[in-house]
Amino acid sequence: MSGELLINVTPSETRVALIENGSLQEVHVEREARRGLVGNIYLGKIIRVLPGMQAAFVDINLGKAAFLHASDINSKLIVKEESSNHDQVPDIRNLVHEGQYIVVQVVKDPLGTKGARLTTDITVAARFLVLMPNASHAGISQRIEDPKERNRLKSIVTPYCGEDHGFIVRTAAEGAGTEELQHDAEFLRRVWTKVIERKQRKQTKDPIYQDLSLAFRILRDFVGVSLERIRIDSKLTYEQLVEFTTEFVPSLAPVIEYYPGERPIFDLFDVESEIQRSLHRKIELKSGGSLIIDQTEAMTTIDINTGAFVGHRNLEETIFNTNIEATQAIARQLRLRNLGGIIIVDFIDMNDKDHQRRVLHSLDIAMARDNVKYSISGFSALGLVEMTRKRTRESLEHILCGECEVCHGRGYVKTVETVCFEILREIVRVNRAYDADKFIVYASSSVSESLINDEYHNLAELEVFIGKQIKIQTENMYNQEQFDVVMM
Ligand SMILES: [Zn+2]
Repeated sequence: MSGELLINVTPSETRVALIENGSLQEVHVEREARRGLVGNIYLGKIIRVLPGMQAAFVDINLGKAAFLHASDINSKLIVKEESSNHDQVPDIRNLVHEGQYIVVQVVKDPLGTKGARLTTDITVAARFLVLMPNASHAGISQRIEDPKERNRLKSIVTPYCGEDHGFIVRTAAEGAGTEELQHDAEFLRRVWTKVIERKQRKQTKDPIYQDLSLAFRILRDFVGVSLERIRIDSKLTYEQLVEFTTEFVPSLAPVIEYYPGERPIFDLFDVESEIQRSLHRKIELKSGGSLIIDQTEAMTTIDINTGAFVGHRNLEETIFNTNIEATQAIARQLRLRNLGGIIIVDFIDMNDKDHQRRVLHSLDIAMARDNVKYSISGFSALGLVEMTRKRTRESLEHILCGECEVCHGRGYVKTVETVCFEILREIVRVNRAYDADKFIVYASSSVSESLINDEYHNLAELEVFIGKQIKIQTENMYNQEQFDVVMM
């Protein structure tokens, strides 16, 4: 597999697109506002010890002092610890003293008047592994259950453990290739060496390690994938990435390019409009058929429809071809939208067993192009294909969209007619309950227009029936389902 990365950087957002065979395959988005300090490692200075609170204030050059509780201090690190009481947290005064330099990691961002919360239990995470400085072995995530897989992972990672660092193999590593895991281990070891260096240099102005931002993380994660070219539209990020890769991912340094183009970088390969399309329910197939993709909390369902059959003599052949084309589109959309969990595919019904088998095979081949773990079951009695795809990041839809304020996820809104009738009923109800002289209805422009025109008769009849005047007022801020009936 070989591809190209396009990186679009703005002060508030970084987006990365992976292009393979000339078309967009993956999109990654990170918004600056959501990035905090969690994970950053600092060489801090203890500025005050608070025995009553069993805590210390630590200066990590953030303006506000950060907070370190005694229970978050790894006592192995502290030489002068003399407590023999195992159950109790040792006295903070025996752990640290004012003026002491200490390596700390942020576990909670500063909030309001509260400073950041720190720990001395440092960990550095990559895609598959977490480096643990205070360990010397390889631990495997409990969520990887298969004993054979656990052994395989352990044997790959153990050689990279050292006296002053071990690794935890994350759940995401299940099924990952040997080379990918080795790259991760090597990367983390290089990072750790840097941290130690900076600590010895007494670097206190900047963090000695900063959790990677998206562009860097992506390059770290693409180690081992052959990328022909990486283009970035920000000069500054370009320079930083060259520096970063030269240091940590040397294989990628030569393919990084600055993109100064007049055209927005995401106009290349039609990336911007592909992203827009990937938020639609419906995807058109070249043959004229289409896919309808629905994401619910429990699962994703994909329905395949044929186009018009005009000009096709052989219906069965057309159905088969549409289903085959759909398998490619399904795999691509699952990856692009980053949909995980249970996926139910409703192919167009095929009676021919051989056709069914070939469709499953084609789906399998298309899915295999992606690195994410998946499984496909055969056709069920109802003709559905059940599959799973490992959840990794959040889906693109969840990153870019929120619930619709009008329909709240229903996907439909009440018709203008339905809302008009609701309003007429509401007037009757209010009129019975209260003593009003007249009514004013506030409604969206489409509803108030309909009340004045289409529903004119009903409205006039109601006025006669209750013997009161009803005024209609357009409220431009209201959506179609919103209205108010006000008494005067
Ligand atoms: Zn809606």
